[in-house]
Amino acid sequence: MIEISEEKIQSVRNDFPILSRSIYGKPLVYFDNAATTQKPNSVIDAISNYYRNDNANVHRGVHYLSQQATAAFEDTRKKVAAFVNAGSPNEIIFTRGATEAINLVAWSYGETFLKAGDEILVSALDHHSNIVPWQAACERKGAHLKVIPVTPEGELNKEVLAGLMNERTKMIAISHISNALGTINPIREIVGMAHGMNIPVFVDGAQGLSHGPVDVQDSGCDFYAFSSHKMYGPMGIGGLYGKTSWLEQMQPYQLGGEMIDKVTFEKTTYNEIPYKFEAGTPNVADVMGLGAAIDYLNMLGWDFIKTQENDLLSYATQRLQQMEGVRIIGSPAQKAAIISFVIDGIHFFDAGTILDHLGIAVRTGNHCTQPLMNVLGINGTLRASMAFYNTRGEIDKMLAGIQQVKTLFA
Ligand code: PMP
Repeated sequence: MIEISEEKIQSVRNDFPILSRSIYGKPLVYFDNAATTQKPNSVIDAISNYYRNDNANVHRGVHYLSQQATAAFEDTRKKVAAFVNAGSPNEIIFTRGATEAINLVAWSYGETFLKAGDEILVSALDHHSNIVPWQAACERKGAHLKVIPVTPEGELNKEVLAGLMNERTKMIAISHISNALGTINPIREIVGMAHGMNIPVFVDGAQGLSHGPVDVQDSGCDFYAFSSHKMYGPMGIGGLYGKTSWLEQMQPYQLGGEMIDKVTFEKTTYNEIPYKFEAGTPNVADVMGLGAAIDYLNMLGWDFIKTQENDLLSYATQRLQQMEGVRIIGSPAQKAAIISFVIDGIHFFDAGTILDHLGIAVRTGNHCTQPLMNVLGINGTLRASMAFYNTRGEIDKMLAGIQQVKTLFA
């Protein structure tokens, strides 16, 4: 554990220009980090610098700017590979975000390996993005979607999972961290169980890369999808880690320029990985922004990030638990700084709207997890998702806001 001074938090906050703005005349309290995180100056500057000084298309030109852009683009691929400890930069594919990465694997893996009667396992904790593409792949191929249930605490039920795995199971697709409850799933353990039966594991890491280190080789997962905008980088970019052996066998997802080797009207052969999965001009400027976000996270260090977020999580949890009529949903043993809660007798939209008028941004609704909400028997929650730049003082403001909501509706 490291000691974190108020000056340190303030200097980190100063890196994020949006944090000093007001909403309805009140200082912004931003607790919607699971939806998207704010961006530091270095990320904003990297994007504008690219368009101001360096813009050129990659992989195509002999001219200086194109070669410079290509080198910077490929350097960022190496940076991402190092960030998640991939075996090779070729195992990193740039996509629009986690959703596109999931669609890529569900389609390409599905077309290549899935057949009638096979089974895919998803979990009741999952985001719609990690359910619907697998459901569609199953429908296309005549395969069956099976669901790993959650315990009342909001953890994956590993005993039921063990019973669900069999020789027909062709993929286990689970999230690293639940965006709705904050549950951190035991990826390494689940990969161990799955690989024992030769079943690959796909991890939806949309919430994973911002809260702690990810080591895909240590966890052993076969695929890991992520979004840059949830890790302090720009929107519109993200990626997929995939083991070479799978990526080489899988059919390409989209077709066009860049992803080809030779084209004739009779036949086309495909480029090698990762280019086989990157058809068309990529989002180079936002790749530069993603690189700057990784530099920023590396500069802060996980010790700082985890210490600060764990402090906010335990402080907010204790204080919310002390409030009458407030119920936190889920109590998993391993949890990121995401708290879903309900207030007795008060609709989450009403509470969220009042908090908004106090300058406090929380998310309300089902958090793109309708099946989970059905299992929990609720329509939705209020969700406060915190980042290292949040403070205990901001949590106090949210609690005072909730008190106001309760008084108003009493
Ligand atoms: N999975 C999870 C767990 C998420 O939280 C999200 C975003 N809310 C997604 C997938 C989809 O990510 P994106 O919208 O960035 O593609």
